[in-house]
Amino acid sequence: TAKKQGRGRVALHNEAIQNAYISKIKLKDKLKHALKHELLSVHYQPVVDVKSGQTAKFEALVRWHDEELGFISPARFIPIAEEFGLIHLVGQYVLQTSCRDLAMLHRSGFEHIGFSINRSINEFKASNNQLVHISDAIQEFALPFECITIEVTESMAANSYTWQVLQALSAKGIKVALDDFCTGYSSLSNLIDNPIDYVKIDKSFVDSMVEDTSKQVMIKCLIDLSSQLGIGVIAEGVEHRQQQSMLAEFGCHLIQGYFYSQAMPIAKCLAMLEREEQVNSKLA
Ligand code: C2E
Ligand code: MG
Ligand code: MG
Ligand code: MG
Repeated sequence: TAKKQGRGRVALHNEAIQNAYISKIKLKDKLKHALKHELLSVHYQPVVDVKSGQTAKFEALVRWHDEELGFISPARFIPIAEEFGLIHLVGQYVLQTSCRDLAMLHRSGFEHIGFSINRSINEFKASNNQLVHISDAIQEFALPFECITIEVTESMAANSYTWQVLQALSAKGIKVALDDFCTGYSSLSNLIDNPIDYVKIDKSFVDSMVEDTSKQVMIKCLIDLSSQLGIGVIAEGVEHRQQQSMLAEFGCHLIQGYFYSQAMPIAKCLAMLEREEQVNSKLA
């Protein structure tokens, strides 16, 4: 019977692997379909200037709602897009949509607003000329280069080819942000040797910072170091007032998180900016 049980376990195990694989393949096929029929969308999450309480910029985050499966998180489908060679299509869609939406905000009188756009490691292959794609999209919508920030993770940036591309983007005036900072193999020399405009403190750090004094020390050090290097710090995933006030006290000027707002469709962003402007003109 032991043998039988053992075999049963193997069969179950195989089935689990198969299911994971089938659902991956299914997601890949559905994603292909969604890309072809423009069923993805882009939402934008405010990054708030702590001092003024006003929106400084937004991060573009891709959204996918499937009729059968419902909302599928980018954390789930971006890796699949990478694995099956679809990431450049996702990236191109997000880039075009973001630039179009930002141009609309600028035309509506909010020229000071910028957008951050996430890029995956596989988008930085030599065959996939990011420099041309990104600068073409920005120029197509007559945007200033300075209003677009490209977010990459530290692990991506480990590759020297990636740094070459980022360097070239930066030379045009496009901003560069290191995303999920402190989560990978961080190298502080990256901050000194490369054109980095912002670091983003990862949510996992913010989550435990109120109780964990060693996290506080690290965050404070990073903020001080960055400010001396002229690098902006954005704290991500801020949900509670205690986190917000501690970060502000440490000198972190830019905060992103549900404490202020989730990502939302462009029409809501515009309405929010208009409300902020009204409040401002009443105060003036
Ligand atoms: P990320 O770039 O680090 O984006 C921040 C993520 O944290 C977003 O999740 C955002 O909705 C979430 N977030 C922000 N504030 C809070 C908060 O206060 N609480 C909680 N619980 N979450 C918060 P999202 O949109 O699910 O995206 C997950 C990841 O997927 C992103 O992490 C990014 O790595 C990737 N991603 C999203 N859009 C794109 C895209 O257009 N292209 C690429 N290549 N990757 C993308
Ligand atoms: Mg990001
Ligand atoms: Mg992040
Ligand atoms: Mg992340």
